[in-house]
Amino acid sequence: MNAATRRASLQLPYTHVDDFYINGSWVKAEGTQRNPVVDPAVGQEWGSVPEATASELDSAVGAARTALKSWSALTGAERTGYLLKIATEIESRSEALALTNTRENGSPISETRGAASNAAGIFRYFATLAPWLDGEDIRPFPADGAESIVDKDPIGVCALIAPWNFPINLVVIKLAPALLAGCTVIIKPASPTPLSIRFIIEAIEAAGVPAGVVNLLTGSGRFGDALVRHPGVDKVAFTGSTPVGKKIAAACGELLRPVTLELGGKSSAIILPDADMSVLSTRLIRSCMRNTGQTCYISTRIIAPSSRYAEVVQTVASTIAAGRQGDPYDEETVFGPVASASQYSTVMSYIDSAREEGARVVAGGTRSISLSEGLESGEFIQPTVFADVTPDMRISREEIFGPVISILKYDDTNGVSEAIALANNTEFGLGGLVFGADEEQALKVARQVDSGSVGINFFGSNHSAPFGGRHESGMGVEYGIEGLSAYLTYKSIHRTV
Ligand code: NAP
Ligand code: MG
Repeated sequence: MNAATRRASLQLPYTHVDDFYINGSWVKAEGTQRNPVVDPAVGQEWGSVPEATASELDSAVGAARTALKSWSALTGAERTGYLLKIATEIESRSEALALTNTRENGSPISETRGAASNAAGIFRYFATLAPWLDGEDIRPFPADGAESIVDKDPIGVCALIAPWNFPINLVVIKLAPALLAGCTVIIKPASPTPLSIRFIIEAIEAAGVPAGVVNLLTGSGRFGDALVRHPGVDKVAFTGSTPVGKKIAAACGELLRPVTLELGGKSSAIILPDADMSVLSTRLIRSCMRNTGQTCYISTRIIAPSSRYAEVVQTVASTIAAGRQGDPYDEETVFGPVASASQYSTVMSYIDSAREEGARVVAGGTRSISLSEGLESGEFIQPTVFADVTPDMRISREEIFGPVISILKYDDTNGVSEAIALANNTEFGLGGLVFGADEEQALKVARQVDSGSVGINFFGSNHSAPFGGRHESGMGVEYGIEGLSAYLTYKSIHRTV
């Protein structure tokens, strides 16, 4: 189907909107500034949202502060009732949410169709932690005669700031633990993806969550900065780029405001000499180019043994070249466009730099010129693989955040220590992969990768296991009890017994 016809037939409930969700209702925006929402597959504006003003920010924070009193007074078990209802309500909005998300950022529909069930799963997972939250925690003093009661209190009003690559997941990963903990929130989605999150707000409303517990405002980075610094905010949870994360960390440092930062990455897939190429080929796209390369913890550097270098290059190049690129609404599409015109320019400039620095293109390497059916103005870059990449090249060091894989070589004549050193030769520390037939050996290597998570012949993230980055990839973790703890503040009450 032609892209224009397909888009004309979409019945999206949210396109040009003029309100915010504050204190349990949709409130008309008072300002005049509007921010466009562009479909990157066709390069056309299809929606817009208002920019929140300082007084709207005050209203949302005020509503969250008021709601905090009664929401925090509920038990975890009582709040769990809401979390489970929210999960069901999100699932019933799955298709509209997916269609909107794909239009916002060009993520293939096969990806966005999973967003609602993933979000529901996160709410259900955090619901299971209510007994831990509510459970009494009493710790004896080392000498007899006294004990401490450890209370877990909600940290307060939280600012949740998300990027555009997974606009639902990266809000819900913060929202679900914040709500369970008894916190209230103000959500700021990224400017390219401000509409799909409204389905989460619909679900919150339908679940009967009290007014003021969840508020949604839209606005630019400047608005985000005002939110971070607002005197009524107690904690900031941010996912996004390292440069913006550092600005937020500086602001929070000044204010002594707790902050969680999930930032950029430059993760590596280490191919051990005994790796099975069919496993690599099967897992490659999800592990190294998921969401058209716009996933923070995929492994965009492949570190291949010299003894099998040509074979790895051939496997990677042919697998990537075989992935179908096209309209993200097409169910067969593996690679969509990149999310925006500015991402397009950034990614193309990395491709140019790699050529200039002497890397060898073995797949892609240019604009996707063969696309037709109305996608000619879209932000399509061919999924690209560079071989003969050396550690000093820009594409080996910097986060590209687009469909570009770099293949480096290590000398495996005396083992795999050079591979581990190459993988750790980065300022980041988010993800990583080890491909190898001997799982014991692969585990030993995984333990030496200096990052927050590593997959062995497998790519995934687990709601119950901490997820976060080291070094330039961030501070703090999400998911798991550790992720819930980021929304708590502890109080020890000591007494004699
Ligand atoms: P970004 O440019 O850093 O923006 C992230 C969010 O911060 C957006 O909502 C943005 O608003 C807002 N923002 C911008 N400047 C701000 C400021 N001074 N104060 C407060 N908020 C501000 O990141 P992005 O381009 O949306 O997303 C891509 C990046 O996210 C990549 O680096 C990727 O690695 C990272 N990421 C990390 C993880 C992880 O879990 N570690 C997961 C996914 C993505 P506007 O959109 O209005 O500018
Ligand atoms: Mg940005």
